[in-house]
Amino acid sequence: MPILVVGSVAYDSVRTPFGERERVLGGSATYFSVAASYFTPVRLVGVVGNDFSPQDRQTLLDRGVDLQGLQEVAGKTFHWKGEYGYDLNSAKTLETHLNVFAGFRPQLPGAWKRSEFVFLANIDPDLQREVLGQIHRPQLTACDTMNYWIEGKRESLLETLSHVDILLINDAEARQLSGEGNLVRAAAKIHSFGPKTVVVKRGEYGALMFRASSVFAAPAFPLEQPIDPTGAGDSFAGGFVGCLARTRDLSEDGLRQAIVCGSVMASFNVEDFSLDRLRRLTEGEIRGRYRDFAALTRFSEVPVHREV
Ligand code: AMP
Repeated sequence: MPILVVGSVAYDSVRTPFGERERVLGGSATYFSVAASYFTPVRLVGVVGNDFSPQDRQTLLDRGVDLQGLQEVAGKTFHWKGEYGYDLNSAKTLETHLNVFAGFRPQLPGAWKRSEFVFLANIDPDLQREVLGQIHRPQLTACDTMNYWIEGKRESLLETLSHVDILLINDAEARQLSGEGNLVRAAAKIHSFGPKTVVVKRGEYGALMFRASSVFAAPAFPLEQPIDPTGAGDSFAGGFVGCLARTRDLSEDGLRQAIVCGSVMASFNVEDFSLDRLRRLTEGEIRGRYRDFAALTRFSEVPVHREV
């Protein structure tokens, strides 16, 4: 089942304690698409400037991402500049240049208007809704956002959330969006905004999925040498929604399986800069790490009756 995604396609300048890269391929829709492409076909809606290189376009095409909805216009591609300290959990944004996104009006190719699975990746919530409004009754709508939009476009974001089934968000943003310091209370508040499922990403501490009557926790994979966390959240979302679109199993079990797929894809992404690790994965590697995750949390029943 194809997924339609709208989000940023970007050039990123990133510094981490392990190195830096200038104007490399990034963007929420880019990371999402490449991660999801290992599970299901992806249709990308977005915009790039005429500085977008043929090699970067080819990276997406090599993963079979359908680019009919990627407009190219005169101007510069979205640019984000950020850095991380040794605590790789939180990015410090140094610069955000919307560039060609400022005047972007998404137009969905006719056949895409019946997409069943939709992911509104991190981008202006006005644009997220403009895309959603063109789609005829999707089966599942999931969404991501960040502090930039929570601070700058709160009302519009709340309007988007009222149309969304699943919100994926990091812990600091969940607190900021809800005004609650405790994550259980934050998730409950976010449920009241619309999304019935709230996935809180906690970097190296894993992810929590909150639903009306259940909570599920997945660890992050303990990596010896994470290099660059940029795009981890979007890769998580790509594995998560990709798995759901592939299995079409929206039950509690299906959602839990998808959370682990998200964790798997995020864990690979942080092993290198830009899309360098994600685009070179094999299905065997993905299957292997999924099994490693199962082993990581497997334990047996404990005998709690007292020995006599
Ligand atoms: P993540 O690390 O998964 O939260 O996402 C990182 C990606 O988000 C980077 O590749 C950036 O290009 C992109 N990004 C950063 N700020 C924004 C923004 N305000 N809107 C859309 N995308 C952004």
